[in-house]
Parts: sequence; structure tokens; C-alpha cells
Amino acid sequence: FFLTLEGLDGSGKTTQAQLLARFLEGKGIRVRLTREPGGGLKGVRDLLLKEDLSPEAEYLLFSADRAEHVRKVILPALEEGFWVISDRYLDSSLAYQGYGRGLPLPWLLEVARRATLDLKPHLTFLLDLPPEEALRRVATPDRLERTGLEFFRQVREGYLRLAEAEPQRFRVVDATRPVAEVQAAIQSSISKLFP
Ligand code: C5P
Ligand code: MG
Repeated sequence: FFLTLEGLDGSGKTTQAQLLARFLEGKGIRVRLTREPGGGLKGVRDLLLKEDLSPEAEYLLFSADRAEHVRKVILPALEEGFWVISDRYLDSSLAYQGYGRGLPLPWLLEVARRATLDLKPHLTFLLDLPPEEALRRVATPDRLERTGLEFFRQVREGYLRLAEAEPQRFRVVDATRPVAEVQAAIQSSISKLFP
């Protein structure tokens, strides 16, 4: 299984991914925990956070990272029988570079089809958070987080539309709730995948 966690900065994706990995390992499942940006190309994370880039350049860098991530990390792990949990994946780009920065979705999807070899997550948890709360939670914003409330509003709206368009893949979880409750909601969705 390929699972992804999505949501605004500060929504708790990293924490929830780690808790979920531990939970699944407790069930005897072999888990590969990974993340974007930087899952495929190590240097891309620094570049994205430090340089002032056009939205197009930003998206192509995320895509280059993702192309490597899919081929060198995610697919090999799935083939070896691991469950893969990725902290962010393509939906991040559709939400941030698409809905947030205004790049046209058809172009993003066309590039993505090849970059990701059309690999889609089986299940995606959207940790949904109001943009005001997300900004409040990000203590020391990096370049990409310094884009303000309006940007975060658009990204959140984008995520919710993506979730609406694919209800069978997405589970929307209220990320304002305490960590343990969010994790319980995630685990209960997952438990439906195996008896
Ligand atoms: O989730 P993480 O904090 O590792 O993401 C690093 C930075 O990249 C964050 O500022 C996030 O908002 C940004 N990002 C982005 N577009 C993406 C994925 C992440 O702007 N597609
Ligand atoms: Mg962050």
C-alpha cells in the first residue's frame, strides 16, 4: 500500500506519519517512511527553500525530486512488499503550485503523469487546518511559508477541492484536534483496509 499525508504547514503531517508507521509496524507490517521535498534529490530541498524561484521553476524542481523519489524509493519499496508512507506527494504540488501559485492544473498533471509514472496513492489523509491556525503553528517560517494568509487560504481551498474530486482516495481529518485523536481517526480508516 502507498499512503500519503497532505495538508498545510503546521498540520502535523510529520508527527502523524511517524505515529502511523509505528502503529503499522506493531501489526507486523514492514513500513518505509519517506517525505517530499528531498525524498528523491537531496539538494532540491535547500534549493527550493533558499532561492527566489518562479512558480514554474519551483514546480519543475518538485517534479524532478518526485521523479527520482518514485523510481528510487517508492516503487522499489512497494515491490519489496513494504507499505510506503510519504509525508507529502503530488497533491502538495497541485495545492501549492496549482491552487496557491496559480499554475494551470492541466500542465501540472501532464508533467506529473510522466514524472510519477502515474503512480497514485491508495489512500491520502488530508490533515485539514484553517489557514490562520496553520500560520500560527509555523514558528519560524521558511521562504515558502512566508507567503501569507491569502496564499494559505488558496492552498487549503485547493486541497479540499482535490479531496472532493476523489472521495474514494481522500480521507479528510480535522487537524485542529489533539495529536492522539487525529492519529485515532487515521488508524480507524486504515483498519478498514485489513480485517
Ligand atoms: O512539509 P515541509 O515543511 O517539509 O515542506 C517544506 C516547504 O515546502 C514548506 O514551506 C512547504 O510549504 C513548501 N512546499 C511547497 N510546495 C510543495 C511542497 C512543499 O511550497 N509542493
Ligand atoms: Mg514546513
